[in-house]
Amino acid sequence: MKRTTGQNREITARWRPATRAVRGGSWRSEQGETSEAIYLTSGYCYEDAATPAARFAGQAPGMTYSRTQNPSVQMLEERIALMEGAEACRAQASGMAAMSSVLLCQLSQGDHMVIARAAFGPTRWVTDNLLPRFGIACTAIDGRDLEAWQDAIRPNTKIFFFETPANPTMDIVDIRAVSEIAHRHGITVVVDNAFATSALQRPLELGADIVAYAATKLMDGQGRVLAGAIAGSADFINNKLLPFQRNTGNTLSPFNAWVVLKGLETLELRAVQQAKNALTVARFLEGRVPQLLHPGLPSHPQHALVQAQMKAAGSVFAFTVEGGRAAAWKLLDALELIDISNNIGDTKSLMTHPASTTHSSLTPEVRADMGVSEGMLRLSVGLEDCEDLIEDLAQALACAGL
Ligand SMILES: *Cc1c(COP(=O)(O)O)cnc(C)c1O
Repeated sequence: MKRTTGQNREITARWRPATRAVRGGSWRSEQGETSEAIYLTSGYCYEDAATPAARFAGQAPGMTYSRTQNPSVQMLEERIALMEGAEACRAQASGMAAMSSVLLCQLSQGDHMVIARAAFGPTRWVTDNLLPRFGIACTAIDGRDLEAWQDAIRPNTKIFFFETPANPTMDIVDIRAVSEIAHRHGITVVVDNAFATSALQRPLELGADIVAYAATKLMDGQGRVLAGAIAGSADFINNKLLPFQRNTGNTLSPFNAWVVLKGLETLELRAVQQAKNALTVARFLEGRVPQLLHPGLPSHPQHALVQAQMKAAGSVFAFTVEGGRAAAWKLLDALELIDISNNIGDTKSLMTHPASTTHSSLTPEVRADMGVSEGMLRLSVGLEDCEDLIEDLAQALACAGL
């Protein structure tokens, strides 16, 4: 197998983001294939007995077992690292594998972390239910409030964790300011960047230490596979995450890695166009619904911050309707084009009712605290013609009597 220039950091360091997204990390077999190969293998064979011994001892490069190394997975890892501007990356079996691993690999009994309360439901389950079982405390705060981050710090605080934009309330966290507070206290900043991706927002350049991903969303972008990734310093990836992953097995399948690798080649095109479409559709809803939460609209209270740290506001937004759950469900049931689905970042436009799906595992109190109301709907805008999407929303609103 030949490493292409995509594996040469001296060369890829000169490449601009679009080139990295298409060619970064590629390897080529002796067949000279243009599209990266899928290495569906669990193990590797060796020419002689000394070779695996040297590899197991870490004294020679090369693969030993696909729980820790696989060529298709490594191509994806190198490409994501290059796109994020990270020293290293490790792919994960899913987005939640990434979120749980990034926390569990570096927290110990007696530690404390702080999370922005508006977060993906399962992430809050990990911080509110799983971590306390191992003696790790977590404080949930309003991530928009810089003083709240400062006030939550304890002598044993190890991690600040947040999503921005956050699911589904579209809260924005000031990555640079929160990272500065954290670093004054030796705290590690982890950002779940699934809603934006490196195409629209680069947390490491703004001061964050680690990016964690659901690659299931915009990175695959076509609703095919679950995947996750964690990118950061080589020291963190190799010395904290890798021992954890090697022994717990949150490994991504080579096939899924290949699918995401292909998705990354068109990530920027899709992310930019879907963000444009989302803004067009949101403008149609403005004034027609009581609350519209879209970070790209001047009406969003953090619009200036969005413009400062994001290239575009992303493809997902939320809105509320009068009449609570009954009215929200009526609108969903009346849709003819937009699908009822809790996924996001797909080329197909998808709508969900967070309170009864993605955020149903949380108590009503936690939901209310996060701002997830019974009348809230979340729309992930795809690549369809905006006129068709707007027509569908107009007829569904009318059907629901809204
Ligand atoms: C979907 C999602 C996750 C979890 O990803 P999975 O691949 O579904 O496990 C985590 N964080 C955010 C923000 C997400 O949207």
